Amino acid sequence: VAAYEGLRVIVTGGASGIGLASADALAAAGAQVIGFDLHPPEQATTWPTIITNVADEASVAGSMEVAVDQLGGLDIVINCAGICVDTPLANFDIATYDRMAAVNIRGPILMAREALRHFGENGRIINIASELAYLGRAGFSGYAGTKGAIISLTRSWARELAPRIQVNAIAPGPIDTPLLDFPNMGEELKRLETGNPYGRIGRPAEVAQAVLFLASRHTTFITGQCISVDGGAAMH
Ligand code: NAD
Repeated sequence: VAAYEGLRVIVTGGASGIGLASADALAAAGAQVIGFDLHPPEQATTWPTIITNVADEASVAGSMEVAVDQLGGLDIVINCAGICVDTPLANFDIATYDRMAAVNIRGPILMAREALRHFGENGRIINIASELAYLGRAGFSGYAGTKGAIISLTRSWARELAPRIQVNAIAPGPIDTPLLDFPNMGEELKRLETGNPYGRIGRPAEVAQAVLFLASRHTTFITGQCISVDGGAAMH
């Protein structure tokens, strides 16, 4: 069997960064891809984007219907849409946290639930977590917590849905995207972000390689896992 030919894939957050690189890699490998994002990609892509707010129940359900209709079915959902805001505990802003959790946790839950209604004999969910779920980060407990939730959801869904649906996650380290905004970072944070064995931040295409691995039709006995793509920052 061909690893990717004709796979029908939805990538949330497909307009930028890791989602864009993953959608690109899958489309180049022969998959049929549709991106869900708040806005269209800035660059031209070979796949369409459906404007969707993953935090909104009706938006997810509506876009999923349209996408499945266009794709003629659904094989894989990649939950990549996410936002990161700092939440130092002493001034923890609950409204800000709730907005972030709605995108980072509620989004993947809504996507997974809707996808279950459309998956055929097999389905795959690939969730994007973060190294901060393992390492923690001072001032970012809210974000790190949403990513810890993603790893926990991945494990429970993997048990609940096996063997029909494979559910795995990826925990990227710092990746060169608009979310990280590395060029405009202070020196201290830059040192922290490059403090892994590789001594550098990663590229979106390097995370896309892990997405390709988990999306391949040949990857058939792996579920409930979270693969770190972080230059060795977290080893476990
Ligand atoms: P990015 O900002 O480049 O891309 C994120 C995309 O998600 C954007 O296109 C944005 O419009 C979209 N998005 C945001 N809110 C949305 C919503 N409500 N509905 C639909 N789309 C929405 O960021 P990225 O760095 O590519 O991040 C992708 C994922 O990887 C996120 O979940 C992020 O938390 C995670 N991550 C990133 C890094 C990093 O260093 N860049 C590290 C670890 C994990």
